[in-house]
Amino acid sequence: MRVPLVAGNWKMNGSRASAQDLLTGIKAGVGQIVRAEVAVCPPFVFVPMAQSALEGTVVRWGAQNLSTEQSGAFTGEVAASMLKEFGCHYVIVGHSERRSLYAEDDDTVAKKFAVARAAGLVPVLCVGETLGERERGVTEEVVARQLDAVIGLEGAAALADGVIAYEPVWAIGTGVTATPDQAQEVHAFIRGRVASREPQVAGGLRILYGGSMKPDNAAELMAKPDIDGGLIGGASLKASDFLAICKAADAAVA
Ligand code: PEP
Repeated sequence: MRVPLVAGNWKMNGSRASAQDLLTGIKAGVGQIVRAEVAVCPPFVFVPMAQSALEGTVVRWGAQNLSTEQSGAFTGEVAASMLKEFGCHYVIVGHSERRSLYAEDDDTVAKKFAVARAAGLVPVLCVGETLGERERGVTEEVVARQLDAVIGLEGAAALADGVIAYEPVWAIGTGVTATPDQAQEVHAFIRGRVASREPQVAGGLRILYGGSMKPDNAAELMAKPDIDGGLIGGASLKASDFLAICKAADAAVA
């Protein structure tokens, strides 16, 4: 059985005070979550705060990005070793906002996956098509290309050390969610592609759905056989909503 994971991607939101409140709220309610794994990925500067708040709890924390480099003259970058030092378990790589707004290509994302893995972090690899790509019928082609960049660099077995998040770009932050069938179709495709190379890895691989997942649609998405949790943007900024999604993940494996 795959343990579902619900991870909050806070993006560039919040203040010191609101981040603290959010962490306090999650901590207060996480005792109701018994089966699913829970994680938060705050902005870099709030990572030490997450560490202080969450150390000794079941909630894990991570970052939203990392450098491809180890150290040195890379102004504005944050190294994998630094994230490790502040207790990060996860790091998101290849989020569509990084790909589209910061020109991260498949090779850069694959390198970030490799660097995270080498440092003992668990990369959460985001893949997904734009609306135009879906309308052109090339969703599988796009997702395969994004996945194959990592497989080409690291080998399919390396995916055992990571998590995949299928995030259709048209569903991120738009309020438009993929239907459970649409999401399941792509999740099954991803698992099948990994299975064709490493069947055992595919069986254990957690594939999260991301894209306007909310308390009122989480249960039906996570009821699908290949949806193993969620990467949550907007709804992760309110403790009660985030915890409601975590509860749905819990119920999905009850
Ligand atoms: C995300 O940014 O990873 C995401 C899924 O955002 P939202 O839940 O707001 O669509």
